[in-house]
Parts: sequence; C-alpha cells; structure tokens
Amino acid sequence: MSSKLPILPEATLGILGGGQLGRMFTIAARTMGYKVMVLDPDFASPAGQMADVHLQADYTDHGALKQLGAACAAVTTEFENVPAASLIELANHCRVSPGAAAVAIAQDRSHEKSWLAQNGFATAPFALVYSERDLDQGIADTGTPALLKVARFGYDGKGQARVNSIEDARAAFREFGGQPCVLEGFVKLEREVSVVLARDDAGECALFPVAENRHENGILDVSIVPARVPDTLAAQACDMARDVAGKLGYVGVMAVEFFVADGRLLVNEIAPRPHNSGHYTLDACVTDQFEQQVRALCGLPLGDTRLLSPVVMVNILGDRWQNGGPHWNALLAHPAIKLHLYGKETARPGRKMGHFNVLDADLPAALALAEHIREVL
Ligand code: AMP
Repeated sequence: MSSKLPILPEATLGILGGGQLGRMFTIAARTMGYKVMVLDPDFASPAGQMADVHLQADYTDHGALKQLGAACAAVTTEFENVPAASLIELANHCRVSPGAAAVAIAQDRSHEKSWLAQNGFATAPFALVYSERDLDQGIADTGTPALLKVARFGYDGKGQARVNSIEDARAAFREFGGQPCVLEGFVKLEREVSVVLARDDAGECALFPVAENRHENGILDVSIVPARVPDTLAAQACDMARDVAGKLGYVGVMAVEFFVADGRLLVNEIAPRPHNSGHYTLDACVTDQFEQQVRALCGLPLGDTRLLSPVVMVNILGDRWQNGGPHWNALLAHPAIKLHLYGKETARPGRKMGHFNVLDADLPAALALAEHIREVL
C-alpha cells in the first residue's frame, strides 16, 4: 500500500530485525522524532532496547506482521534474510522499502550472482551448484583454488569453504548438507572497496564516499575512508553501484561490495540495507547511513553525504571479551575516537559487539592510531 509522502516525524516506523543495524536505525529515527516498532524474536534484541515497541515474534508470524503493518506508516528491514513473503504481506498494509523483489535477489547468492551476470556486472568466475554432479563442471569453470559458499543464510565467512580440488569440493558440499551453493573462483585481491548509497522514489541517488575494507577470517575488520584507490576507480565503483540500484529499481539504503583485482572492479555482494562498511558515516559525514535510511523510507529529500573528515572504522568483536574484556580506557582517552557499542549481552568469538571511528585530517595518522588501539584494546 502506498503511504502519503513524505512521512513526517511523530509517525511510527517499523523495522524487521533487531540487531545492531536495526538499533542504529532506531536511534536515528527516534532522534528525528519518529516512533519505532521493532519486530524480532529475540527478547534481548539490541534494537528492541531502543524502540518504543518491541514485538517479540517470528518474522513469519501473521498476527505480528498485521500489528506492525497497522501501527506503522512505513516498514524497512535491517537484514536480507527476512522472508520475502513477509515483506509482500506487510505491503498490503503500509509502505515497505526496500521491496520484496530486491531483497529476494540479495538474500540468495545464486540469484544474486545470476542477476549480476545477466545485467552485465563483472563478478568473480562462478558456477551454480545444486547437486554433486554440478561440481565437476563447476571446478572446470572456476579453476582452483575456489570457494564453495552456501546460497542462503551464510554471513561473515560462515557457510564458506576453500577448496583446492574436486575431492575438497565434494567434501565441503556434503558438509553443507547438500544445500544449493555457489562455487566461486578465488580472486587475487588487490583491495576490497564498497559503496553505500540511497536511492529515492524518483530514482535519485545519494552516494557515500567509497570505503576501502580489510577483512579478517571473512569478517570486516577495518574500513578506511576515503579509499586509497585512484579517483577513476572510485568513480567507476560509484557508477556501478548506482547502476545496480537503478537496475534493481531499489528504494532505500543499500551497499555494493567490490573486489579490486588486476585493477578491475568485480561485484562481490549486494546488501539491501545499511552496511557495516558504512558505519564510518555515523561520525564522519553530514548525514549518516541510518538517517539516510529514515529519509529514504519516509520519502524525505536524501541527506548530504559529504565526508567531513578522513576516518578509519574498526569493528570490535566478541573475541576481545575472552580475557577480561576490552580496555575501554585506552580507547576513550582519545578525544577523536568515537565508540559505538550495540548492547549485546553475550560476547561470542566473531560476534560484532561494537565499533569505533577514528577521525583525523591526516588519514595515515588515523590509520596508525586505529591500528594501535585495535592492538591495545
Ligand atoms: P563474502 O561473505 O562472500 O563477502 O566473503 C567474505 C570475504 O571473504 C570477502 O570480503 C573476501 O575478503 C573473501 N572472499 C570472498 N569471496 C572471495 C573470492 N572469490 N576470492 C577471494 N576472496 C574472497
């Protein structure tokens, strides 16, 4: 159902998913005077803690979806694994952005890779794997080493295995229970970069500056902004990201992750939501990605995405709690470091507990301080 736009403060906005991205959306929306209803089955949801109302129910609970749709002027999502059917159901009651079609593409690696290839976007060489029989041809197409990735519900390097031979590939496929997978040729990465952007109902885009990302064990570790790549490559990444959003007919905030290999950009993934590599915007841009999500959802003019300072973002993972917890004093002693914690009760290795942004007019100095704090924290 279409709502009257723009949706103004004091209206209620809904979000499917109550993790850290939902929490930061909730904070941005409430700062702007909106009320927020969060749907998440977890009673300890980081977003639920910040919301006006936390509906503790499953994403497929018809009663809860009806309640959310009736109370909210518009609903968005913070993660791609929300069932597309729930978005369609909600759309009978209120404005929903992004739409089910875009989310359905991004939530399944097979759909995503096929869609990218069909629309002319360069990717790593890949093969779709539905049965063990597909692996022989797959390995012939991608070469080795390769990565076997489950098509659905994999994240942060989970549901991925590096394979060096057909035997490895068969073993990994069985390990994943024979579920649909994508086999991807292993790319020699020069860098990884990402673009977070918002697209409005009229098709206008506002792009945040390109981030350069470093991953560790498949999980984002550090984002460096502006990315240390030639201007032409940064401009190309922006053009491709804008093109992806346009071809998806996307409305809302999304991210496109790229590999840089042989000086070329390959699209790695599309995220139909704000992105970890956009957390730097919280402290370094005129508008942050979560305010932008509110603006796009409400049909408001998109905010200014200007970078106010070079910045380095560092993720804080649950591993740091294993030996008595992080040394916050070491971090908080620095006046130009901004700490964001997500209110998660249990710290597990690999779990994203928070992040910090280091701002400095001199990017190498910001990076050196970020790396120092990362070590001593
Ligand atoms: P993903 O969850 O697919 O984004 O993978 C997480 C990280 O693993 C990426 O950001 C890369 O650092 C690495 N990775 C994934 N796929 C490939 C690939 N085909 N070649 C090289 N590195 C990859």
